[in-house]
Amino acid sequence: AQYQIYDVKKPRYVRVNTLKMDVETAMFELGKENVVQKDDMIPDLLVLPPSTDLHSHPLVTDGSVFMQGKASSMVAVALGPKPGWEVIDACAAPGNKTVHVAALMKGEGKIVACELNKDRVKRLEHTAKLAGATNVEVLHENFLNLNPEDQSYSKVRAILLDPSCSGSGTVADRLDYLLPSHTSGGDESRLVKLAAFQKKALIHALSFPSVERVVYSTCSVHQIENEDVVKSVLPVAASYGFQLSTPFPQWARRGLPVVEGSQHLLRTDPVEDKEGFFIALFTRNATHIPETF
Ligand code: SAM
Repeated sequence: AQYQIYDVKKPRYVRVNTLKMDVETAMFELGKENVVQKDDMIPDLLVLPPSTDLHSHPLVTDGSVFMQGKASSMVAVALGPKPGWEVIDACAAPGNKTVHVAALMKGEGKIVACELNKDRVKRLEHTAKLAGATNVEVLHENFLNLNPEDQSYSKVRAILLDPSCSGSGTVADRLDYLLPSHTSGGDESRLVKLAAFQKKALIHALSFPSVERVVYSTCSVHQIENEDVVKSVLPVAASYGFQLSTPFPQWARRGLPVVEGSQHLLRTDPVEDKEGFFIALFTRNATHIPETF
């Protein structure tokens, strides 16, 4: 097969949906049949042995816990939304990170969950309903068409941007993904197109007037979708008063040293960490935000 999923000895992670169940209760319930531990970094994440199959477990089917990997669960935590905030999830379906954001906000405030693809909007609605995330407003729209000057977005304080990407961090057949020669032909032009959209969407996210925190994440291992996108937006980000901040400073694996500030960026490795993710966190302090907002 062309692709092989990095899956063999992968621990099973579940994120407790604290909108529906507390962590201790979930540990007690799952612990009846499994060895369950708390993750050392993500507060509501539980770790189970690699062979555990939870697909039809009642806590999964009723939305009390979500099967979500560790790297994926870092993204909403890096965004750091507070209860009562207004937040945009720019590319939201199927909604795993949307409902994680909702849980971190304790269901208080508002999340506009934007999704372009009609079929995926249905999945997003289903996820929000399953999670009991009543503060999620699903919007079937192109994120690039949301007008930052529109009054309805004037109080948005955080944007999560997890755009379409190559997915090369979760499915791949090679370990030489960091070599310059790792793509060819059609792959290369696909990556260029994806990166162009990612850059455009990131600049758009940074242009919302009251936003203090923007997280850009991918499940790609490719520099062109990760560090290169960040590098290309840095001048615009600085002009809006944004700087790179360091999500999970205790995490050792940082960005490739091809951009100033790469030590702020976070990478997870598809082999060592079982999933290849990338996270960049942009922040600005309130002094840069126009007073009218
Ligand atoms: N954050 C999601 C989660 O954790 O469940 C996964 C998001 S997935 C990587 C990217 C999503 O962005 C896809 O559902 C895709 O249809 C959507 N998308 C792509 N372009 C978009 C655009 N211009 N506006 C809004 N959504 C878009």
